[in-house]
Amino acid sequence: MQAPAPVDVAILQTALDILVAADDLAAALGEPAMCLILASPGPGDLDARLYLRYAAARLHDLDDLWADWAAPKARRMYEQVAGTLCMVYDGQALAVTCPWCGEDDAWSVRELPGGMVAIVRAGVCEPPAKEVGTWWHGQPVRPISDWERLARKCASK
Ligand SMILES: [Zn+2]
Repeated sequence: MQAPAPVDVAILQTALDILVAADDLAAALGEPAMCLILASPGPGDLDARLYLRYAAARLHDLDDLWADWAAPKARRMYEQVAGTLCMVYDGQALAVTCPWCGEDDAWSVRELPGGMVAIVRAGVCEPPAKEVGTWWHGQPVRPISDWERLARKCASK
């Protein structure tokens, strides 16, 4: 006998919230675009992609004012998903002790051009040169691809 798959309530709630928001967005954009409105999702449905694709297509049809109207709604969906999935995003504080200077909670994520991530907030840390990808405003910066190695280094201290 197989055990049921583990359920993460926060993820299920986020999927449902995104589905409801996407359905609302699609319906709101379908009317001014004079398009057939999609049927609302049924019980057990958690896939918002149909509604998001529909909304994106309507935004191509409509005046740019509708994109301005929809942007904060899309931003809220993005932020909710990122928060629920613990995705790295700009401004996120990291609860780690720096392995070089010993300062607690001094690292934060900064998204930089080229996929680089700055992780020292105070600018007082001077790790060995081989531990730094580059410098940005006096702060050591590492590429996101180095994150797993840095996390292991923090965990081993
Ligand atoms: Zn440090």
